[in-house]
Amino acid sequence: MPETPAAPPGETVLTVSGLRKSFGRFMALSGVDLKVRAGEVRAIIGPNGAGKTTLINVLGGQLAGDAGRVVFAGKNLMNKYPHQVSAMGVGRTFQISSTFRRMTVYENMLSAHNAASGRWFSLSTALLRKMHGAVMEDLESIHLAELAGRVVDDISHGDRKRLEFGMVLASRPRLLLLDEPTAGMGLQERHDLIDLMLREIRERKITLLFVEHDIDIVFRAADYITVMANGKVFAEGLPGEISDNQEVQEIYLGVK
Ligand code: ADP
Ligand code: MG
Repeated sequence: MPETPAAPPGETVLTVSGLRKSFGRFMALSGVDLKVRAGEVRAIIGPNGAGKTTLINVLGGQLAGDAGRVVFAGKNLMNKYPHQVSAMGVGRTFQISSTFRRMTVYENMLSAHNAASGRWFSLSTALLRKMHGAVMEDLESIHLAELAGRVVDDISHGDRKRLEFGMVLASRPRLLLLDEPTAGMGLQERHDLIDLMLREIRERKITLLFVEHDIDIVFRAADYITVMANGKVFAEGLPGEISDNQEVQEIYLGVK
């Protein structure tokens, strides 16, 4: 395992406090408190049903929270609509693919750039030409330039995952929320995808909050780890601290 990196010294960019969310009588988030520093790679782990996806959905605006505060870059992010969250510089991917399967890789990336430009109704040839450069650049950075003309239905699962990641980068987010980005991939593919994502994220100085069940990936990628259980933050620490934490091992890793 690589040496544990020190947590970066950035300022707090995301603060979540007392966040609650119930589904009927069931409390999926029962008071989540969290602080994430700018430029940090933060993993969220925890057993199934801990509330990880619910947290990401409330942060991304897909779900409304019942109570609490979310502040991102000094602005209230609580209970905004997804397009408002996105306009504030927060990007996310979903567990279910959000690509257009019958369009080409290029067309998908172009549509992401177009959406990010906010000019849905005023596409001109000049604008398309300008976007072309950015689209190809982004496709290159996710190693998909050679597959630009392929229909998404015909590319591999791993290629599609990279495309989804590239499409969210098109909006030039400052904070990225990724829910199990490597789900459904083979071991080598998972590690390759995470390495590529981390390279882009570090290079672009994006803050990352990601949910991941592959603990090897978590320890390899994260600067800092938040462990959730029963809708709350159960423990937090550097990777080395979390792997040494007896209680975490018991609830999460199933080690007695
Ligand atoms: P995790 O991602 O950590 O596995 P989730 O956030 O998906 O956990 O779910 C937390 C709990 O909330 C689970 O018990 C789940 O069954 C419940 N839950 C999630 N979404 C809904 C929903 N839309 N309606 C009812 N219960 C839900
Ligand atoms: Mg989940």
